[in-house]
Amino acid sequence: MGKSVSVVEELLSALPTVRPQLYFKTSLTALSHAMEDQVLAGSDRPLVIASFQQERFYRQEAHRYQQIAAITDQVYVLSGAGTSFENQPQPYETIAFDDEDALTQEWHLVVLGDYYSACLVCRERQPIAALSRSPGIALDQIRRFEGLWTQDRAITQQAAQLLLARIQDYRSELADKLTKTRDRFLADITSPDVTKFDADPFAQRLVTYLQAGQYKLLKAYKAISDQERRERLVNSITSAMRRSMDPDEIFEIAVHELSQAIQPSRCLIYRCKEDLTAVKIQHEARQPQIDPAQTNLTQTNAAQTNAPQTNNTQVKSLLNQSWPIQTNPLFQQVRTQLGSLVIADTQTPQDNLEASPQALQPWTEPWQIRAWLIVPLVYQERLLGMVELHQCGEPHPWSDHDVALVEAIATQLGVALIQADAYANLEDLNQQLEALERTRSNLIAITGHELRTPLSTIQVCLESLATEPDMPVELQQIMLTSALEDAERMRKLVQDFLTLSRLESGRIEWTLESLSLQECIDLALSSIRAKHSNGEVPTLKSCLAAHMPLVRVDGEWLVEVLTKLLDNACKFTPATGQITLSSLVHSGDPLMVEVIIADTGRGIEPNRLETVFDRFYQEEGALRRTTGGTGLGLAISRQIITGLGGKIWATSAGKDQGSEFHFTLPAVEASVLSHAQTKPPALKAAAGQLRQTAAAKNR
Ligand code: ADP
Repeated sequence: MGKSVSVVEELLSALPTVRPQLYFKTSLTALSHAMEDQVLAGSDRPLVIASFQQERFYRQEAHRYQQIAAITDQVYVLSGAGTSFENQPQPYETIAFDDEDALTQEWHLVVLGDYYSACLVCRERQPIAALSRSPGIALDQIRRFEGLWTQDRAITQQAAQLLLARIQDYRSELADKLTKTRDRFLADITSPDVTKFDADPFAQRLVTYLQAGQYKLLKAYKAISDQERRERLVNSITSAMRRSMDPDEIFEIAVHELSQAIQPSRCLIYRCKEDLTAVKIQHEARQPQIDPAQTNLTQTNAAQTNAPQTNNTQVKSLLNQSWPIQTNPLFQQVRTQLGSLVIADTQTPQDNLEASPQALQPWTEPWQIRAWLIVPLVYQERLLGMVELHQCGEPHPWSDHDVALVEAIATQLGVALIQADAYANLEDLNQQLEALERTRSNLIAITGHELRTPLSTIQVCLESLATEPDMPVELQQIMLTSALEDAERMRKLVQDFLTLSRLESGRIEWTLESLSLQECIDLALSSIRAKHSNGEVPTLKSCLAAHMPLVRVDGEWLVEVLTKLLDNACKFTPATGQITLSSLVHSGDPLMVEVIIADTGRGIEPNRLETVFDRFYQEEGALRRTTGGTGLGLAISRQIITGLGGKIWATSAGKDQGSEFHFTLPAVEASVLSHAQTKPPALKAAAGQLRQTAAAKNR
């Protein structure tokens, strides 16, 4: 037989009734070790032939064969030739076979003693493809072999015969020794006296090795299930990200999924910027109780050290609480290193932690944080937020798996935040573009209509003045006045138009201050009185509610709205009528103030109550009006009030029934009132300007 013929095939063709079986590598390892241990434990001096596929497999077992060689001089070890494996006689016969020999694919162990015989003759098969791709399974665990393992003496003798022939092929100088071996072990085919055989070592060892194999298997299962758990979690967050662009929704899902997967006492996810002093916790998941077993331990320790006992087993909630971050040394360390911090015990100094346990006390003590895992949400070296896991009660060594899982989630959440920001910016840009587009088309409409008409009037007047030098002086005066009036109207229109386009494009930076409403009203009233100082105006009455809270507004813009509404009321109310300013406080969260400007003038039809806020809406055409105005005042007022966080609307019982204009503004809680006693600079400037305008008008 040639060297490249498989020993397994040779044996099986000699035993047509025997069917080969499939063995995983772990089973063969267990069987081989049990067979070797049986030799080491027995009183026999058996023939032992072992064939290893490669030298490195033999190396792992060499010491056992040295022990076996101390028991019997009939030991033959075959292996693929290697750097230190070669043919030699000491302490047992080693036989190095060629690279092309079929033995490179085979695993044999033959033990043939007086009382005990067993053989394992196997050939390697391809590993199961589906398993070899599974993460967490070591390649070794899926190696398979085909062949047979038996304690049948006749088969063992046959296997020994084949292997001895193979040995003689390589080591012809051993011919005499091999003949003696054959004579001693292969001539007698009678069954040995089994009563002299103690199978205990074999069985015991086999069980031990199988147990070890099972343990490895369990570890592999755990690795797979950890991997699966991680993938499931990452998937659920990725699909939440696909469903929603809202980081709050994604954070809420992530905090609960993480809490379920790792089961810390408390899990927090929050957005943060580097310069924030504290964040409000809006996403938290926690276990209802600190692990009772751990609490008992803590309490026993506390009792021993005479420390005050706590029976508080609840994990306290941080939801809606302000969580100080700027003073938190742990947060600051994570912020600087932009990497995770894993703390198994906050009460003992840790190598990876710059701060001492005492420095962390303001956080660890009130919130019972014993172990802390903090992972930053980072995008391009920019801190976007944090994931925090707290373990209350006892120290907790966070596993590498858990840390890797939280880090994987944090990466996803960072991407979600960036996506959401980009989307919001895009929406914002779109809105601004739409507003600009609207403004642009309006500008065209206006130049076409509103501006061209007064311009033709001006042109006609000036042309007449130029071409008719002998025009009567009174007529010249009328022409000039009308040209000047239309020029003034055009100036106002352009000014209002620019204001509106600034407001609509969102380019206004509001300077919010806590202001007294009465002061703003007084400024608006002075402005109106200055404007109408020459003509008759309706009676103006201001009766604000007592103890009005301050309003949180941009003073200049609020005065602008009040002036416009009062101006309208003056325009559309006869001099005999009345204009009343009043106010209401809407308690609630947020606290709001409502201002009402009511007049007894011409009123507004019910179907026009909303339309009056449209740009360029005027009940009669601008040119037919004696009251002046651009038709942009209410549109500007709505933009301002909305920008300040309020609402504006009109009510009226109908024609000649008077009108009421209402608007709301955010107010400052009474508790903060005392802080805003001084008149803010913007309002002071506005007041100064108004006084100057009034003085100029009076001159
Ligand atoms: P205008 O410059 O024409 O006053 P506004 O936008 O301020 O432009 O007002 C739009 C229109 O709403 C006015 O032309 C008028 O028809 C109606 N309006 C505004 N205020 C009142 C009021 N107090 N009483 C009756 N109608 C009003």
